[in-house]
Amino acid sequence: MEKIYDVIIIGSGPAGLSAGLYAARAKMSTLILEKDKTGGQISGTEEVANYPGSIKDATGPSLVARMVEQAEEFGAERMRAEVTELKLDGTIKTIVTNKGDLKAKSVILAMGARPRLLKVPGEKELTGKGVSYCATCDAEFFTDLEVFVFGGGDTALEEAMFITKFAKKVTIVHRRDAFRAAKSIVEKATKNPKIEFIYNSGAKRIVGEGMVQGVELENYLTGETKEIMADPNDGLMGIFVFVGYIPETGLVRDLVKLDQSGYIITDAQMLTEIPGVFAAGDIRVKSLRQVVTATADGAIAAVQAEKYVDALAD
Ligand code: NAP
Repeated sequence: MEKIYDVIIIGSGPAGLSAGLYAARAKMSTLILEKDKTGGQISGTEEVANYPGSIKDATGPSLVARMVEQAEEFGAERMRAEVTELKLDGTIKTIVTNKGDLKAKSVILAMGARPRLLKVPGEKELTGKGVSYCATCDAEFFTDLEVFVFGGGDTALEEAMFITKFAKKVTIVHRRDAFRAAKSIVEKATKNPKIEFIYNSGAKRIVGEGMVQGVELENYLTGETKEIMADPNDGLMGIFVFVGYIPETGLVRDLVKLDQSGYIITDAQMLTEIPGVFAAGDIRVKSLRQVVTATADGAIAAVQAEKYVDALAD
């Protein structure tokens, strides 16, 4: 007979792995699905210095490896498969994948979100080597160095202000001459003596051999380009990209309620409006997207899924 899991978790970032650990430890039959790589966004982070308890050797991959080991120790199964369709109504949910259909009594959506890229030469190759999408994670590495921040929304300006605690100078480069960010945030950023602004411009190319050493900017009004290289005494500089995020909600767009930006709306128990379907981590509406909040979401979602599945049996 076809196996019906108590819970299938879609996504194997910190939210999915934490959900897997909690669900399996509660003796639920648990399957974690991952599309291509384990660990989600942190698998590309060199140092995770802000996850409580991670002090030494806490690279993204090492933290992920420990999370996987722990979830598997409690009996969580993992499978590499791409989900192509979800049938979430009814008591038995069907997860259609490229490896066949899977069945579960409850589902935890933990597919995450990905930062929007600038899509310029050098960006991919130098990600983690001077190009970053997370100030909380990486700003400290740029202590006393020069940093360029791309974007004009709340995130770009707020993160730029945070980065000034470390960097010697932060230049915000925005593609227009008016910010999308809230006025109060713009006002605060313009008063910051360490922040400079370049308007109507964007990156044409990120320059560097092994580490970011410079950036080529283009002025969109004049078409002029300018290469800015790191101070020779520093040798390197930082590039932070905050041009929005893309939640991985394509599969559930027509199934669960999303906010204007495409994130899943849940209640405090991580429940979507579909009974037995929960969401955890970066994919849902929340104020702080970090490993620590993702793992907390995963734990809550798994405990609630357990209660839901137990109630089905009554
Ligand atoms: P956002 O509001 O979508 O802003 C993205 C910024 O990036 C915009 O300035 C946009 O330029 C620019 N951009 C987009 N694509 C680009 C590209 N390909 N190249 C260059 N620039 C590009 O994203 P966000 O700042 O991450 O904020 C997301 C949401 O979280 C917003 O609703 C925001 O209000 C909220 N948030 C709130 C707070 C707070 O309240 N304290 C803090 C952080 C975030 P244009 O302006 O020209 O479109």
